[in-house]
Amino acid sequence: MAEFTMELNEEQREVREWLHGFAAEVIRPAAAEWDEREETPWPVIQEAAKVGIYSLDFYAQQYFDATGLGIPMAMEELFWGDAGIALSIVGTGLAAVGVLANGTEEQIGTWIPQMYGDASDVKVAAFCSSEPDAGSDVASMRTRAVYDEAKDEWVINGTKTWATNGGIANVHVVVAVVDPELGSKGHASFIIPPGTPGCAQGQKFKKHGIRASHTAEVILDDVRVPGSCLLGGKEKLDERLARARERAKQGGERVKNAAMATFEASRPAVGAMAVGTARAAYEVALEYAQTREQFGRPIIDNQGVAFQLADMRTQIDAARLLVWRASWMAVNGKPFTAAEGSMSKLYASETAKQVTAQAIQILGGNGYTREYPVERMHRDAAIYTIFEGTSEIQRLVIARTLSGMPIR
Ligand SMILES: Cc1cc2nc3c(=O)[nH]c(=O)nc-3n(C[C@H](O)[C@H](O)[C@H](O)COP(=O)(O)OP(=O)(O)OC[C@H]3O[C@@H](n4cnc5c(N)ncnc54)[C@H](O)[C@@H]3O)c2cc1C
Repeated sequence: MAEFTMELNEEQREVREWLHGFAAEVIRPAAAEWDEREETPWPVIQEAAKVGIYSLDFYAQQYFDATGLGIPMAMEELFWGDAGIALSIVGTGLAAVGVLANGTEEQIGTWIPQMYGDASDVKVAAFCSSEPDAGSDVASMRTRAVYDEAKDEWVINGTKTWATNGGIANVHVVVAVVDPELGSKGHASFIIPPGTPGCAQGQKFKKHGIRASHTAEVILDDVRVPGSCLLGGKEKLDERLARARERAKQGGERVKNAAMATFEASRPAVGAMAVGTARAAYEVALEYAQTREQFGRPIIDNQGVAFQLADMRTQIDAARLLVWRASWMAVNGKPFTAAEGSMSKLYASETAKQVTAQAIQILGGNGYTREYPVERMHRDAAIYTIFEGTSEIQRLVIARTLSGMPIR
């Protein structure tokens, strides 16, 4: 177990500086343009690929960092640059982690390189779970995968929505129902290879924030994929379903806990994204408050402004500590007895919304315009309380974990 320390080691500090440099010199200057264009910032992703930030190697290195701080640190720096562009860069990683976590070695080796492409021809990947009638309520998922034994193929039908990179991805990872009797325990994940007939982009959403990140529906119409596209393989799925059926008879507790542990481990990464956006807005507000003069003195001379900045910084640091704690717990296999992963995501995302709103207030009229970045950061921050489980769902998870009661 890695010893707990509040200090980043030398290697982590170097990586952080390198990422910060990329965020400051490449991402931030491009942010306003891609927000207005509402398009995937391919040239920026390509730049990230050239320097090695857009690659599985980089992502895996941070993912397997024994202190648990690699991913939160990377997310905070990239999202400090700009949330929409950063999501375009890390969105593929979220799909790749799905394959890393559940795929066989062969699947990892075959599909992950195709998710990223290379610096001369970058590709992206999408993770498709949400559906029009299954957002927070994942168990209501309808997309169905049926096994055609004669051809050793899976036939997938359904509509996915809100998929980051949906339809423009080279590789889609799709979650589908394989046993409707088992609710969310009867789900499995599939690779949809590039160019598979029947897999198409539906509506592309015009969004409030993170507009440089592509979000769309994915329509799956009699999509046929080889048996080898079932993540983890058929044998493992059959064993898992048999265990789930057995446990369902006995109350289903252990399966539920395993799924919860996975979410608890992934949610701090979203918390770290929120910390990045909040810190970015706070820094702009601090500098503005120190230079903008009214009544013959800098506005920060007023307690009303200075105290807001004090609260903003306190909340950001508290959010980061919750994120780091949960990430450290995940890597060291500590049980999330108080849903600490959900706690970190809840607090950091609410902080980002609040801090970015305060930043607009501190910049006054300028804060309300697109001449300054805080209005964009505020629009971007609103996503953190929605995706990867809304704030209400985080509170539900925390309350259920604390009380052991099936709170609704
Ligand atoms: C920009 C963007 C990108 C996304 N990217 C992806 C992606 O790549 N892949 C993917 O699979 N999904 C993605 N999502 C989907 C996202 O995870 C869902 O939007 C989210 O889970 C909420 O689901 P919903 O939108 O259907 O809201 P709903 O579940 O309909 O919730 C609506 C409201 O009701 C509240 N609510 C619902 N149930 C309860 C309850 N039991 N108690 C209290 N309140 C409740 C919610 O908190 C919310 O305030 C993305 C979404 C967005 C907006």
